[in-house]
Amino acid sequence: MSTTPLPHPNIDSQPYWDGAARDELRYQRCTACQHAQFPPRAQCLRCGGEVAWQLSAGAGVVHSYTRVERAPSAAFKAQLPYGIVLVDMAEGFRLMLNLRDSPLDAVQIGAPIRVIFEATAEAGLKLPQAMLVE
Ligand SMILES: [Zn+2]
Repeated sequence: MSTTPLPHPNIDSQPYWDGAARDELRYQRCTACQHAQFPPRAQCLRCGGEVAWQLSAGAGVVHSYTRVERAPSAAFKAQLPYGIVLVDMAEGFRLMLNLRDSPLDAVQIGAPIRVIFEATAEAGLKLPQAMLVE
C-alpha cells in the first residue's frame, strides 16, 4: 500500500504549516500595499514589499472545482472519486484544497466552504482541506 505524498515545508512555508498543525489557516499580507498573498513567498509579488503573517477566519467560496475520477498515482485510488476546489477566501487570497465530508454533487461555483484540518501519518503535520457549508 502506498501512502499519499506529504508537503515538504521550506523557509517560506514553514509558518503556514506550523499554523495548520494548530488548526490555524495562515496567509501573508503585504505591509506596504496590503495585497493578500498565497502561497507564501519571501516578499510581496505585487510590489516587492515585506509580508506579514495573518490569521484567516477559514471561510471562502468556490471559485472553481473538479471531480477526480482517475487517480494521479496509486496512493490516491482509495479516495476516488474526490473533489478539488479552488477557493476564494474572504481575506482576498485563493488556495486549492481537497473537498472532504461533502457530497460531490453539491459543489458548485460560489458555494460557501470552510477550511478544516486533516491529520496525516506524520506527527505534527495537518493538511488544510475544504468542507461545504450547508
Ligand atoms: Zn505589496
